[in-house]
Amino acid sequence: MERVPGFMGTAGVPLVRQANISYMSELTPAVSFCFAFAKQNETKRRGLNSPRLLSRKMRDGGAHLRRRIKMLAKVFSFGLLGIEAYPIEIEVDVSRGLPAVTLVGMADTAIRESKERVKSAIKNSGFDWPGERITVSLAPSDIKKEGACFDLAIALGILAATQQLNSQNLKDYCILGELSLDGALRPSPGILPISIALAKFLPDPASPEQVRQEAGKIKNIIVPIQNAKEAAIVSDICVLPLKTLREAVEFFNNLDTVKPFKLDLEGLFKQNSNYPVDFSEVKGQYLAKRALEVAVAGRHNVLMLGPPGSGKTMLAKRIPTIIPDLSLEEALEVTKIHSVMGTLPNRDGLMAIRPFRNPHHSISSIAMVGGGSIPQPGEISLAHQGVLFLDELPEFHRDCLEALRQPLEDGLIRISRIKRSLLFPASFMLIAAMNPCPCGTQWQHKNSCRCSTTQIARYRSKISGPLLDRIDIHIEVPAARYQELSSNLPAESSSQIKERVNKARSIQRERFKDEGITCNALMSHKQVRKFCVLGKEESELLKMAMTELNFSARAYDKILKVSRTIADLSETENIKTEHLSEAIQYRSLDRDFFV
Ligand SMILES: [Zn+2]
Repeated sequence: MERVPGFMGTAGVPLVRQANISYMSELTPAVSFCFAFAKQNETKRRGLNSPRLLSRKMRDGGAHLRRRIKMLAKVFSFGLLGIEAYPIEIEVDVSRGLPAVTLVGMADTAIRESKERVKSAIKNSGFDWPGERITVSLAPSDIKKEGACFDLAIALGILAATQQLNSQNLKDYCILGELSLDGALRPSPGILPISIALAKFLPDPASPEQVRQEAGKIKNIIVPIQNAKEAAIVSDICVLPLKTLREAVEFFNNLDTVKPFKLDLEGLFKQNSNYPVDFSEVKGQYLAKRALEVAVAGRHNVLMLGPPGSGKTMLAKRIPTIIPDLSLEEALEVTKIHSVMGTLPNRDGLMAIRPFRNPHHSISSIAMVGGGSIPQPGEISLAHQGVLFLDELPEFHRDCLEALRQPLEDGLIRISRIKRSLLFPASFMLIAAMNPCPCGTQWQHKNSCRCSTTQIARYRSKISGPLLDRIDIHIEVPAARYQELSSNLPAESSSQIKERVNKARSIQRERFKDEGITCNALMSHKQVRKFCVLGKEESELLKMAMTELNFSARAYDKILKVSRTIADLSETENIKTEHLSEAIQYRSLDRDFFV
């Protein structure tokens, strides 16, 4: 007889279980007891003999046990890291134990709450909720995940693990969508970056090798029907729009039930590229409009000074309408950011117009430039390729304005976290506006301003010099006169202005083709010396302006850059005195306020 060492201790149970049963007769009563105990444990573990299970077994004709054949299901989905998507493997394991759902894999509150939504959705769609222990794992487990877009994938995983769904085809699909309690699918943000990631499949080094390889083969995406347009912008993938969980189960059981969604991208781009506003709606303000045309032509940042109600916001809102049209590639880049933040207008899929963002002055610096524990783009990235309008500039928090300096220079923002740093594009035109004094009435016809010189100086000193350094044009926007407002003369439309801007921009592209920049505002000091050469008369004029008007040194380059743009607008090769004097006019506030 072979002795099994240590069978009497707690470790004895598994060892005895391995002993050869033919020795049973030779065993002492104590060992026999141990054997019986181990056997009982084993049957309990397998759930074969429990009276509760036996009765269930008889009730459902064995379906309950057949379901146990497969206890683990795998579903693929995608998560977002900043504005890029990465593959996530969702594993669902249903095992015996007290009924409970455990979610692992650094999930945020929205995902942790998904178990409640998924449970109700499964029950209300007419499927069985397994009264057992369910473990859901989201891999890679070292990246924090957020959002409710994994609901459908988790629900399908549970149904596959309990054999209520044909799980064979699951591996070929990327599954996204939030579930409502009745089993209907709700749209999720960030679908476009996921489509792009699926089509190109740029593997994220953060994902484990296996997940990357598996997800690389998937070219089918299941999305809520409201997200179909957005997902189908990428033509290389097959988009399957669904309305409910039940539809999803029927689809996997019989793959013909849903037709792939196709999109006429050119048509949608054309349809969405109309602005709801136009410059022709602005009466009067001819000088301000001209200054904005110059600003857009050379992509110069602008500071507008004027009393409340003079139309600064109205003018700013129309600036995107005169910037050259977005290319399809740029539109995709813009849509990606707005898709992640859920700010796409009407969930129309494609953002074909330049964005206009005007955050309130109480905004925090994180909301402005982006960040958070799971980094998200801020207002400056939402204004990418468009206009960021800061009304009441001196009222913004100082750290918020300081944070703008680097993105204004680089056209992007880097958010650094311990494990990785993320880049968000943030190339925008800054349009700022402020009152001339704290009460705002300083330049009105009947001057009612009672602000003291100290108050005015304190108000204006809230804007730091380095930020002003990045603003090339200061314009005065006085309250419009009654005659201008009541005039019936047709004002110039945005498309007419845009035509001139386009010409000026193409001259600049040609000039800078070997310089690595695209417009005058981006010229370095060296490039200003190279491209803004002045004749004798013009040099005299600028010299006089610098000394007589007491301009600061920082104004010098800016005047040259802006006059270069004005010369481009009039399609003149050399900067003339009239161009220079117009540019000097756009800095006149400089000498009064900000030296
Ligand atoms: Zn005042």
